[in-house]
Amino acid sequence: MSSVGRDTSSEQTAKSQNKIFLIYHDNYNVDLSAFGLRHQFDMLKPKRIHDELLRQGTVEPDDFIAPSPLTGDELRLVHTDEYLAKLEDRQALAEILGLPQEYGPIPESLDLLNVFLLMSGGTLLGTKLAYSRGAPVFNLGGGYHHAQTASGGGYCAINDVAIAIREARRTTDIQKCLIIDLDYHQGNGNIEIFSRDEDVFTFSIHAHNWMTLGGKQNHRDVETNFKIKEQDYLQLVEEHLADIVPRFQPDFVFYLAGSDPHYADPLGNLGISDSGMLKRDLIVMEHTYEQGLPVLCLLAGGYGLKSWLIHHQFIREAARRYGCCGRLPRSRSSIWQQLWQMLWGH
Ligand SMILES: [Zn+2]
Repeated sequence: MSSVGRDTSSEQTAKSQNKIFLIYHDNYNVDLSAFGLRHQFDMLKPKRIHDELLRQGTVEPDDFIAPSPLTGDELRLVHTDEYLAKLEDRQALAEILGLPQEYGPIPESLDLLNVFLLMSGGTLLGTKLAYSRGAPVFNLGGGYHHAQTASGGGYCAINDVAIAIREARRTTDIQKCLIIDLDYHQGNGNIEIFSRDEDVFTFSIHAHNWMTLGGKQNHRDVETNFKIKEQDYLQLVEEHLADIVPRFQPDFVFYLAGSDPHYADPLGNLGISDSGMLKRDLIVMEHTYEQGLPVLCLLAGGYGLKSWLIHHQFIREAARRYGCCGRLPRSRSSIWQQLWQMLWGH
């Protein structure tokens, strides 16, 4: 077992602190229309965010860090063997993801499982990176809070955050994790997995008309309705974080920054404006990263063709505030590394 600790050397701190890291892979994206399919979730969202960050000059191509797909051992930290076997069935997976059955058999060339293994691998990489560098990290995917131990649904097949927490506890000093879930929907997967875990605090603000959980609750649930005023919504975020963070004192924070409370979201109906969504995201950063906590931000939910804009504005503002971007050293063989150090002294 390897162990990853916080890198607190002054050199490293100077290099990485106040810089965000971005995790992304071209294979996060699926153009469903090329397969004759449609879904309310925009499966080209990561690419749209990636491309706009590049187009506006916020980042450079080398700023994106590519993850690896989760392995079977990592998946089994949370999910049952029976459920993982089911995910190998393309049709069963399509059902979990909510792809309408009228489309018929899913084409063999559409490897949706690998897309989710890769994005969930991004969450695991992002967790280790945020913790070792003390930096805010953004994975342009992840946050699948409806995935339970032995079932999936609501576009969530793999509970990436739960796997990251279990693996991080195994290989790092992380113990206490706070999940801040501001997606429009309540995360039944995270509740099922963590409701009896005293070292994980799940906090959710969600719509009151989304209750399918049979009485199970997060450690802190706040229900809102569509009549809520934006200022009151932001006040809820502020007040609860001001109470939870100092009280729970997490080692690590996962932020599920779902964009579905936005007014233009076809499934959400909270009516929050563009600027309100950005204020929400920055309140989270003020209570977590700006208090010295490592934070991994995940896209989570958000539907329709405007969802990516909400995530993009958050990342662009984080890059402006904290700096952009942290990079990993390029991999070189040890001989090349020695040569490089002889030539360049670093
Ligand atoms: Zn949602």
